[in-house]
Amino acid sequence: LVSREIYPHDTVIDVGNTPVGGDRFTIMAGPCAIESYEQLLETAKQVKASGATVLRGGAFKPRTSPYSFQGLGVEGLKIMEQVGKEVGMDTITEIMDVNDLDDVARYTSAFQIGARNMQNYTLLKAVGETKHPVLLKRGLSATIEELLLAAEYIVATGNPNVMICERGIRTFETATRNTLDLNAVAFIKEKSHLPVIVDPSHGTGVRTLVGPMAKAGVACGADGLIIESHRNPRESVSDAAQALSPDDFSQLMQQLIPFIKAS
Ligand code: PEP
Ligand code: MN
Repeated sequence: LVSREIYPHDTVIDVGNTPVGGDRFTIMAGPCAIESYEQLLETAKQVKASGATVLRGGAFKPRTSPYSFQGLGVEGLKIMEQVGKEVGMDTITEIMDVNDLDDVARYTSAFQIGARNMQNYTLLKAVGETKHPVLLKRGLSATIEELLLAAEYIVATGNPNVMICERGIRTFETATRNTLDLNAVAFIKEKSHLPVIVDPSHGTGVRTLVGPMAKAGVACGADGLIIESHRNPRESVSDAAQALSPDDFSQLMQQLIPFIKAS
């Protein structure tokens, strides 16, 4: 069902009021984690002013260490809904547990399935039973085929509103956090009609590399970018090393204009 052989067009998915795919190029941006109302509001205003239309931010955080900040949970979702309405942005946040499905769908415009849950088939089927848009992130060690089959799970269960996200994979390289696989972007655009979003933040883990890889993502045919930005990167409680300051984010958006397909 996700194959271009079956549907030889570009699927366009409505994330709230933001169409993703087809002729458009979509910028999703915001902090790694929702830390407080003030933090999210300020960051949202800044990224919106620079051109982002979808606000990202985690309320349920899949942290490597159990002692790291785990997210604000439902309180964070409510903050996101409030900020989205106030600023006029659509919203996306990670869902980790099927038990949170109703809350995440109620308070936000789209689900994000994180890399660590790409093959959580219970979760894939659960979001497949809704019509809520889903950004499916590639697993840390998942092949492209496994990624496309995970997308197939959601669509086959009944939800056609799936976006694929390349967010870097584990390789032998240790200089960067992950290796952003741009082959995958061009390959998936050829094989599938679903929109493809590039995440240069997790793909590199390094602030100064986010811009160059964002541009590379546009150049190889992505339908959008998801970028981590924080009002004060040094204070970010998670993924601080890859967060762009509002000024850096704004500068990058200006630089991207000549690269972006007409929208
Ligand atoms: C995130 O978007 O903050 C995140 C945890 O991403 P990933 O699942 O790609 O690691
Ligand atoms: Mn993050």
